[in-house]
Amino acid sequence: MDTLPEGKLYINGDVRPAGGHATYDNINPWTGKVVGQAADATAEDVDLAIQAARTAFDDTDWSQDPAARLELLKTYRDLMVANRDKLVQIARLEAGAAIGAAARAQIDGALNGMNDLLNCFSDVTWSEDRGVKNEYGFDTKRLVLREAVGVVGAITPWNVPLYVNVGKVIAALLAGCTVVLKPAPDTPLMGAIMGELAAEAGFPPGVFNVVTSRHAAMAGEMLTRDERVDLISFTGSTAVGKLIMENGAPTLKRVFLELGGKSAYIVLDDAPEFARVVMGSMVVFHAGQGCAYPTRLLVPRSRYEEAVQALQMAYAGFADKWGHFDEPTCMMGPLISKRQMDRVLNYIEIGQQEGARLLAGGKARPDMGDGYFVEPTCFVDVSNDMRIAQEEIFGPVLVVIPYEDDDDAVRIANDSIYGLGGAVFGDTQRALGVVKRIRAGALSVNGGMSITGDLPFGGYKQSGMGREWGREGIEEFTEIKAIGIRAS
Ligand code: NAD
Repeated sequence: MDTLPEGKLYINGDVRPAGGHATYDNINPWTGKVVGQAADATAEDVDLAIQAARTAFDDTDWSQDPAARLELLKTYRDLMVANRDKLVQIARLEAGAAIGAAARAQIDGALNGMNDLLNCFSDVTWSEDRGVKNEYGFDTKRLVLREAVGVVGAITPWNVPLYVNVGKVIAALLAGCTVVLKPAPDTPLMGAIMGELAAEAGFPPGVFNVVTSRHAAMAGEMLTRDERVDLISFTGSTAVGKLIMENGAPTLKRVFLELGGKSAYIVLDDAPEFARVVMGSMVVFHAGQGCAYPTRLLVPRSRYEEAVQALQMAYAGFADKWGHFDEPTCMMGPLISKRQMDRVLNYIEIGQQEGARLLAGGKARPDMGDGYFVEPTCFVDVSNDMRIAQEEIFGPVLVVIPYEDDDDAVRIANDSIYGLGGAVFGDTQRALGVVKRIRAGALSVNGGMSITGDLPFGGYKQSGMGREWGREGIEEFTEIKAIGIRAS
């Protein structure tokens, strides 16, 4: 397998090594071996990046010149598109994406999303005339403006790194903010390449900065606590999301959180092609490492055995379809790290102890290489109070839960601390009635796409707060200013 180039920091317009030239190993999840080096930012590097972003926001006209921003970001988009193959390679070797997954959600989804955000820019209402009001005996003409919130700290995870980086960075820059991006330690190069391409596009110094670090918390905590940073946009686990709120509280930081999920995939008893729809619930794409992935399959008890048989066939048919590095149609590779593999295997053990029945998979596969391979796994006879039904596993594990009727399906779907996504299959009107009762942010009816770059994405309950992508995703990075002009 190939190697990856060294990842650098991008601070105040310079692509440069970390202080003291510190680096750390970038690990290839397919092999468990070193695939490249990444810059290991010091606290001083992070401080410089924050100051660069602050100065660029306060002392330049970046936030005041929307036309120039849009032009520059279009150039940046073109450069990203021109580097698509390089980005695919990074997604494969750094994030462990199979080619099928790398090309779709990992890279093309991110590039399409970037385009969508650029198109949504003109949908944002930057200035609104609220008319004249007579109060206290005189007239006031009123305006409501949207303005950039300021310096943004963008903290991102490793599962779909380009997609999440783009969702935050491009929306924040379009809004007129300046940004410090802190990628996950496991996927540094997908952040570093964005810095390199920004330098090539000719970004003004300090407008966008990238700091990679081997430490999970150091740079992110600095950004969260620093009073020069106005907003933290975070995607990651619910546990760290709570810490971010806590650490941001002393400076009353605006926090925008995209967190975990345990979404439901509900098949109604009248779903056309019932068996095919059930088979489509397999959690295999990118080894299940997706936050909005519907990982709880809810099937009617009246057709439960039929569903179990369909799943048995589907998993048997998939046994040799995953873990192939060079196969263009392959959608499932390894997990990101040894740590994640251990976490997933631990949940598989918990499921067995809880009394769920393992229908397929359940094992690590060291015979497939030294990387982090876990079999596509399916538990049946699961009840929704089991830990494997309540906690986010973030691996290729589907749990199957029977329900009595539509009300029961809705109750089970909502019986979760999470509320990120979900899918319902059946007669369209009936399915629409069901999704309207599910407390989650992104719902699909009969396989429709609710997660695209021009639609708002985000969670209810402990899946987070705020919305990313679409017009709403740009507005998330703005403050609202009301102006009253005395008119009589
Ligand atoms: P994580 O929460 O461990 O880390 C996310 C990011 O936060 C990383 O960059 C990490 O270095 C940083 N971080 C860790 N501790 C921090 C701290 N104390 N202060 C500031 N930053 C800190 O999550 P992960 O393991 O990288 O990603 C997996 C999780 O992300 C899953 O729970 C998944 O559901 C969630 N996720 C959510 C979405 C979404 O849009 N809702 C998308 C992708 C992933």
